Amino acid sequence: MKKADVVIIGAGPAGAVCAYLLKKAGVNCVVVDHAQFPRMKVCGGGLTHKAYTLLERLIPQFRYDYKPVKHIKLMMEHEERCEFEAAHEIRVVDRKTFDDALIKEYTKIGGEFVKDGFARYEKQENGVMIVTMKSGKQYECRYLVGADGANSQVRQQAIGNYTEKLLCMEQYVEEKAEAGITVSLSPHYPNGYYYYFPSMGHDVVGYGDIQMTAEKFHDVMREWNIPENKIKGAYIPLKEVLSGNDHVILIGDAGGFPNKITLEGLYYAFATGMNACKAIVQGVPFAEANKEIFKKKKREAFHAKMFYSRFGMSSIRLISSNTNFVKKCFDIGVER
Ligand SMILES: Cc1cc2nc3c(=O)[nH]c(=O)nc-3n(C[C@H](O)[C@H](O)[C@H](O)COP(=O)(O)OP(=O)(O)OC[C@H]3O[C@@H](n4cnc5c(N)ncnc54)[C@H](O)[C@@H]3O)c2cc1C
Repeated sequence: MKKADVVIIGAGPAGAVCAYLLKKAGVNCVVVDHAQFPRMKVCGGGLTHKAYTLLERLIPQFRYDYKPVKHIKLMMEHEERCEFEAAHEIRVVDRKTFDDALIKEYTKIGGEFVKDGFARYEKQENGVMIVTMKSGKQYECRYLVGADGANSQVRQQAIGNYTEKLLCMEQYVEEKAEAGITVSLSPHYPNGYYYYFPSMGHDVVGYGDIQMTAEKFHDVMREWNIPENKIKGAYIPLKEVLSGNDHVILIGDAGGFPNKITLEGLYYAFATGMNACKAIVQGVPFAEANKEIFKKKKREAFHAKMFYSRFGMSSIRLISSNTNFVKKCFDIGVER
């Protein structure tokens, strides 16, 4: 049996940030991921101002390629409502290379990264955790961090079935040199939206909502005259959860942290990775170390309910032609 202070399942942005900060703080940890890196992740790859400034603060030397995008267009039911230049660029990254470079910041400072799958954990009477991998390998540790994404197996063992998630599908389209981000809302898109995202080497069109099916995705692509291409899909969890055990910490998508309106998840992956490190180093419960994010999520749940209600959609229809107002809301949203 191997020993470590902390075992982190998942080397995505949440696990990588948490592992890097723990290693820097002198905590002995091991990161386990079942994928061979560099690995694919279905994602628009948009980093908002708050996401890249937080990342810069946490890992100042980290460099990555991105496409800066400032032009934003808002549509409602195929009707253009407003267009503007955002105060801060959105940095669109290719998740395959970005995630690989991020976990390398941890291995470069001597962090241990193992390819294996999580199978289960057990808490012994003396408080020690035994974590078993698919290979049969076992780790004895003080903390287990579940950073294993939207379909987290660590979360599954801690709290059972988790149904509060939204399916989002996307496909690549030819890269347009001057393309900006387009988002389209509609009362027919419950709790979701259609988007066009400029990306690196190709652009991306996607759609997700809480009643999403492959059929619905085809219908929406037809509505937008997008010729069919290879489609990829993934879940976005929409409700934050605690494991119920101070020594099992769920972060990033495993903890259900993505934004309930915009579906932005990268900022929350970095922030909860940072707070998991704080909880472990300071010996405080994660609920305490992450309390500002939990508060934010409570407010967000209320705002999301309003935003996607019939009343919300008709109010947005009324105010969305006011470019200055929409730009101000957008600029504040990407900063905080
Ligand atoms: C279509 C789509 C578009 C999106 N666009 C954006 C966007 O533009 N901007 C934004 O901010 N967010 C976006 N998101 C959300 C964002 O992708 C996630 O919030 C983010 O990837 C969460 O990071 P994470 O580290 O928690 O999980 P992940 O990035 O999913 O990483 C989890 C890791 O755990 C590993 N793993 C899983 N299970 C196991 C296991 N049993 N054992 C070992 N390893 C395991 C996986 O291989 C993976 O490497 C989008 C999501 C989708 C689905």
